Amino acid sequence: MASFNYHQGRSQTVNGREGSREPVDGATFVPKTRVKTANKMLRDFFLGFVKIHVLHHASKGPLYGVWFLEELARHEYELSPGTLYPLLHGLEANGYLQREERVVEGKVRKYYRITPLGQRALKEARAKIGELIEEISENGDARKGRSGSQTRAVAARR
Ligand SMILES: [Zn+2]
Repeated sequence: MASFNYHQGRSQTVNGREGSREPVDGATFVPKTRVKTANKMLRDFFLGFVKIHVLHHASKGPLYGVWFLEELARHEYELSPGTLYPLLHGLEANGYLQREERVVEGKVRKYYRITPLGQRALKEARAKIGELIEEISENGDARKGRSGSQTRAVAARR
């Protein structure tokens, strides 16, 4: 009607209302993005856990892919060989694991054992994880221990 002449170039606006597109798109688009981000973050964590888990077992003795997939299944983790093998190769390429091929029942099997660098990384990861777990569980509940030590600190100042 009258507004038609004033707003040239706005003919694409849905329902003739400015901004009416945004909430519609926002409502469907934004949450999906957040879910994706959360999934990606959890996936990164998960892959980090898997790497440490690999180093842990490799520190006990040589391991091979199929064995490790079964080990993960025992822990109720599901991982595809297409994810695990590149991960093992990456750990090897970065010097954390050393590969060794053995013929088992007529087939070449790739075993991975930990290197001194891998040992160091594992030791450091253990310390950091331990520290983090301690902090997370400490903040998880309001502790008597904390307020107790504060009380002690206050008492000491007197
Ligand atoms: Zn395990």
